[in-house]
Order: sequence, then structure tokens, then C-alpha cells
Amino acid sequence: MSDCLFCKIGNKDIPASLVYEDEEMFVIDDINPQAPMHALVIPKRHIATLNELTKEHDALVGAMMRRAAAVAAERGYAARGFRTVFNTNADSGQAVYHIHLHVLGGRKLTWPPG
Ligand code: AMP
Ligand code: ZN
Repeated sequence: MSDCLFCKIGNKDIPASLVYEDEEMFVIDDINPQAPMHALVIPKRHIATLNELTKEHDALVGAMMRRAAAVAAERGYAARGFRTVFNTNADSGQAVYHIHLHVLGGRKLTWPPG
């Protein structure tokens, strides 16, 4: 999608701190980190919110979850713990309408979220 921040980053039109990339997804460090580790797992194809997911996305989303765990493990947070979050629409605070999985770790995270 032409007017989408994460499509532009995926196309390398806008630079970002790239952590990982394959044919279907990439991982970047969040520009405004909320924890010592704050990465974003982002599919290359444009999907605006989780509400648009269909069965054809099942493998992609599963692979994104496994990639989140791999990034956390690479950074030493597998045993200690980390949080994975998809925000969806206004009440969640979603700001970028291209799905992305937040991966947060390195500090004690509160529950429930504010
Ligand atoms: P959300 O509120 O779930 O839509 O999250 C969007 C996230 O994207 C926020 O945590 C932002 O800090 C992050 N973000 C915005 N612009 C960039 C960028 N250019 N590079 C990396 N992360 C970004
Ligand atoms: Zn997009």
C-alpha cells in the first residue's frame, strides 16, 4: 500500500533498524522503545488490522509468533520473559494500520495494561 509507513519500511523506502528479514516478514527495533527490548514483527504484505485476517493468513501469523520468540531468545529474554502484543483499532491505541507484533522485554511489565 503506497501510503503506509510499514509498507515503505518493508520496501526500503524509509530506513529502519532492521533486525531480521525473510520473504514474508521483517523485524525492526521500535523507534520509541517502551522497554530495553522493543521490536516489531511486521508482515511484508499489507494487512490493516487483525480484523482483516482470514484463514489464508494463519501460517503467516504463526510464523510471526515464532519469530517474536526467536528474537526474544536471541536477546536473552526467553527464560526471563517477554510480552507480545497486537494492538487493534482505536481503543488499543493502534497508530499504524499495518499489523505488527510488539515484542517487549528487559523490564518487569505490569498487568493489566493501562
Ligand atoms: P501501534 O500503536 O501498535 O500502532 O504501534 C506503532 C509503533 O510503531 C509504535 O510503538 C511506534 O513507536 C512505532 N513506530 C512508528 N514509526 C516508526 C518507525 N519509523 N520505525 C520504527 N518504529 C516506528
Ligand atoms: Zn502497509
